[in-house]
Amino acid sequence: MTDRLPALFLGHGNPMNALAHNAYTAAWRHLGASIRRPRAVLVISAHWYVPETGVTVSTSPRTLHDFGGFPDALYQLHYPAPGDPALARRVQKLLAPLPVRLDQSWGLDHGAWSVLRHVYPAADIPVVQLSIDATKPAAFHVEIGRRLAPLRAESVLLLGSGNLVHNLRAYAWHEPERDPYDWAVRFEDQARQMMLANDTASLVGYDSLGPDAALSVPTPEHYLPLLYVQATRQADDGVEFPVSGMDGGSISMLGVRIG
Ligand code: ZN
Repeated sequence: MTDRLPALFLGHGNPMNALAHNAYTAAWRHLGASIRRPRAVLVISAHWYVPETGVTVSTSPRTLHDFGGFPDALYQLHYPAPGDPALARRVQKLLAPLPVRLDQSWGLDHGAWSVLRHVYPAADIPVVQLSIDATKPAAFHVEIGRRLAPLRAESVLLLGSGNLVHNLRAYAWHEPERDPYDWAVRFEDQARQMMLANDTASLVGYDSLGPDAALSVPTPEHYLPLLYVQATRQADDGVEFPVSGMDGGSISMLGVRIG
């Protein structure tokens, strides 16, 4: 037995999952109910991808509706979880001497709340977001994850939110159940094998894996949150995939549980 909490990577997919009740949201709810209650959640979301490392420090982060063209009901949703300024400062300290800006302007983007709404529906667990520095290579994000790993023993749930395969150009908006593209299936399987083998170096070098990787990860922001989670892995941690599926043929909904 260990006192460490697991770390999670969840594929958030279509923002409409916030309103949906489907196999993905059911699996997210089950995770929330089955993991020991954390004192706070630290989210690394694909949608806070900026040229610096920042951490939210407000006491009541606002719900960001950072998308366009969706039904009104989605814009009505709010996720009123409190912030946790002390955790933000703890993150800043763990990452020192890297400069980490304490941010008052960001809130919770849909990468965070569309999933958390199902994992912790009561919104009573404080949430802090950490930005992804878009100017840095994949190895940098692994290093950040390693330095954040001690938080797992401090009752903080690390949650990466992205999508292992994320190709919106190929995405079948009106046919979520369509057969997945072969390249998407192959890349997802390759990444699963790397995780099962605890092969962080290959996960970092995803962009050298050829055409399947280029189609699956055309831009890095939805992939990188996975590296933060993988980087927290300790010698006695297992890996499981509690959520799976390929939405619209080209969005992997794979969920990864470390520990
Ligand atoms: Zn997204």
